[in-house]
Amino acid sequence: MSQPQERHDVSGTPLTLLFSGKVRDVYSWGDDRLLLVASDRVSAYDHVLATPIPDKGKILTQLSLWWFGQLAGLIPNHLVEAEIPAEFAGRAMACRRLSMVPVECVARGYLAGSGLREYREHGSVCGVPLPPGLTEGSQLPEPIFTPATKAPRGQHDENIPLSAVAASVGAGVAAELERITLEVYRRGAAIAARHGILVADTKIELGFDPGGRLLLADEVLTPDSSRLWPASQWQPGRPQVSFDKQIVRDWLDSPEAGWDKRDTEPPPALPGHVVEQTRASYIEAYERITGRQWV
Ligand code: ATP
Ligand code: MG
Repeated sequence: MSQPQERHDVSGTPLTLLFSGKVRDVYSWGDDRLLLVASDRVSAYDHVLATPIPDKGKILTQLSLWWFGQLAGLIPNHLVEAEIPAEFAGRAMACRRLSMVPVECVARGYLAGSGLREYREHGSVCGVPLPPGLTEGSQLPEPIFTPATKAPRGQHDENIPLSAVAASVGAGVAAELERITLEVYRRGAAIAARHGILVADTKIELGFDPGGRLLLADEVLTPDSSRLWPASQWQPGRPQVSFDKQIVRDWLDSPEAGWDKRDTEPPPALPGHVVEQTRASYIEAYERITGRQWV
């Protein structure tokens, strides 16, 4: 780990780098704020790739900000009014520093990823029984809450039943997490559906403010935190077309990349066309969901 980097904003308040995640840099900003800075880094198969995707950080930040606005009537959030330092303009969120709930709050409306794997093995996800006969990409009878542990960095999150959440944070808070997560999912999915996008699943994070109020934090309904599928191409029974870094993963799997991801070798640099297509996919998700044009 490198030494903490000290910066100051225009009013002289210190900004200290707390940590660099695979994609985001988190700064503490004075006593009670955080600056969440989304970089253009892209990760795949647990590696940060050497090639950035231009504008990715800005697109994800602007999409999150838009969603926080859309959901404001449903749940208060961690955003605060503050002048973002110029070097981070467009790619950063000024946030209240919360005491984060140690649970990844996931809602699923369709079967994919770890949900699909668990269903195939047990016929249920996080202890929620599902009807037989579902396949990859199937819509669930109704959205379900499938929480996961917030694994330490470098480790994988693990799906857990609601009873484990209750054991960790109390039954009352667990029930609130479930209710809020499903409401955010339902509202988000309804809005996205108007623009031809299916929200297959989404992960949110919540935290307590000093008054004990639960606020929506982190990022919301972005291609990094959710599976967003073009509705017109949805076809259960196969992997779905998705607005995210699928193009990157597909290329890394291709013979052209010549990379065995199980190797300890870092992945190769991405060719220009993969970078361009990935950037275009993030922009398309932003434009379709918000109805705004990416400048
Ligand atoms: P990675 O994404 O690399 O696996 P990560 O999820 O820990 O690691 P990021 O998502 O890059 O890292 O960083 C965001 C971090 O900031 C998360 O740990 C998240 O829980 C935390 N966070 C988000 N919003 C707030 C907030 N308002 N108050 C406190 N912590 C927050
Ligand atoms: Mg994260």
